[in-house]
Amino acid sequence: VSDRLQAPRGTYDVLPEAAAARTALETTARRVLEGAGYRRIETPTFESTEVFARGVGASTDIVQKEMYTFDDGGGRSVTLRPEGTAPICRAYAEHGMHKLPQPVKLWYLSSFFRQEKPQAGRYRQFWQIGAEALGSDDPAVDAEAILLLATLLEELEVGGLRLRLSSLGTPEARAAYRDDLATHLRENADRLSPDVRARIDLNPLRAFDSDHPGTREVMASAPLLLNRLDAADAEHFAAVRELLDGAELDYEVDPTLVRGLDYYTRTVFEFTSDALGAQSGVAGGGRYDGLVAMLGGPATPGCGWAAGVERMLLAATQLPVAPAPVDLFVAFEGPHARAMAFGVTTEARSARLNAQMELAGRSRKGQLKQADRLGARYVAVLDDDGGAVLKDMSSGEQLEVAAAEVVARVLRDRGMR
Ligand code: ATP
Ligand code: MG
Repeated sequence: VSDRLQAPRGTYDVLPEAAAARTALETTARRVLEGAGYRRIETPTFESTEVFARGVGASTDIVQKEMYTFDDGGGRSVTLRPEGTAPICRAYAEHGMHKLPQPVKLWYLSSFFRQEKPQAGRYRQFWQIGAEALGSDDPAVDAEAILLLATLLEELEVGGLRLRLSSLGTPEARAAYRDDLATHLRENADRLSPDVRARIDLNPLRAFDSDHPGTREVMASAPLLLNRLDAADAEHFAAVRELLDGAELDYEVDPTLVRGLDYYTRTVFEFTSDALGAQSGVAGGGRYDGLVAMLGGPATPGCGWAAGVERMLLAATQLPVAPAPVDLFVAFEGPHARAMAFGVTTEARSARLNAQMELAGRSRKGQLKQADRLGARYVAVLDDDGGAVLKDMSSGEQLEVAAAEVVARVLRDRGMR
């Protein structure tokens, strides 16, 4: 015998029981986001590698070690999307969406791919719900995006939530700050972890994320970007905070908040949940005013977030899941009745009833048991002579009718209730 095949490491099958909870999550996201003017977008599963190399940033963990990049067979380098913002900005520029009324608000529910060490809440193919608003630098866009995300997480009953917020300023302020931070790191290089030390020049900001005790000590006395914002950025951040305060949303300002993507400017934020273990990040996002231009489009401000579907489901209380009701189960006895049962089932579906027929060769008793398992409202048992017994499963009432009358009877009976 040959080995039984398995799903690739870090991936999983969404089985029907789990699919129902995901549908409930999607329904909630659609209601919250479309109610606020966000419209669904879907971009390709893979993009030119350039979209992420330029968009996400060459020094980030994602681009350095997490991307699935391959030659498409025609000498072009393509990458399975590791995130959704850069592709959406690519699409915004490609389709001239700057000519539409601004901001353009888009949302997605898609799968993403990162070459990571699989563990609870961390997969190689995972799903995100995301929202992006492009074309406005109004602080209300940032506050609205954060509040919608908070509403979504609240409606899904994701427990133990904490929101951290910061501002990264402009790329210029950030570049100047990076140099100062790198200087601070170099002055204390002997106390840093080897990987932080090796990346002082490449990405000094990532040192804030380190768990290494020596590195953490060094970072405790590091300069903070939040204290060096220029006047316009500081004002923008204050305006975002004022709106969130007005909405009575709880958050902490965390000047050490670093997001793993290079494109952020000004506002950044992250929701974590105590209900999750080590992988506590539920959702994150921020403003990315330079990204569309970096991808060759017109200068366009933007702000958005992405929330991990697996982590939301892990941290959420059980979502209410109702299977589709079955109006009619069509059972039959005898070789001729099979074709008639098929016809009755088809007719029932044309009349918008949820109908299923016997497909497994069960006995009469087995068929009735199956109908009961499905929670069918009515069962019709067809015989070989064109007759049928129609049973109302909730009252137990039975009625003899012609097979051709079954659907009409069910419709009439339902209409009378
Ligand atoms: P982490 O710090 O956990 O690696 P991240 O900063 O890389 O997260 P983002 O790129 O901001 O995550 O993605 C937004 C959200 O997507 C995360 O908060 C998380 O819920 C989810 N997410 C990210 N990577 C994965 C993954 N490999 N598997 C499952 N969910 C993920
Ligand atoms: Mg990550």
